[in-house]
Amino acid sequence: MFKYYFNKRPVVENSQVNNVSVFVRHNYLLIKEKLKEKGEDLDLNKEEDVKLFVKIVEQGVTVNLKQEKNGEVSTTEYMNPMKLTYTKSNLNKGFIFWFVCNLCGRKVRYLYFPPNSEVMACRRCHRLAYKKQNENDSKILRKLMRGL
Ligand SMILES: [Zn+2]
Repeated sequence: MFKYYFNKRPVVENSQVNNVSVFVRHNYLLIKEKLKEKGEDLDLNKEEDVKLFVKIVEQGVTVNLKQEKNGEVSTTEYMNPMKLTYTKSNLNKGFIFWFVCNLCGRKVRYLYFPPNSEVMACRRCHRLAYKKQNENDSKILRKLMRGL
């Protein structure tokens, strides 16, 4: 008997999402604080500082999956290295940050931990679908099956 698994891709809605803006803001504040102790500053409107920020993140920041089991939150062992890049904003003098996916090297705004994975990667690498897409695929499949 055939089994049709291909219409059941893991979905975005069940994954842990990491947004680059949230990630950058969080780490910017931490790094700025540390630099302050040394009497230095970090200004993300200056390209030099943006480059320094990217370097510090890539050398020092990893992301582990946080899991809740039986009411206890723990982090898993695999440490995902973080890669960032930036582009110049057209609207103002600022910069726009992007994650660089560890698996494919694409520039993305979101990275995901799908269910049962400790590897953080982009939607395409994890073959994530949106719930709606899966539903549509099932509809098409049912239609095809009726036609057989
Ligand atoms: Zn990818």
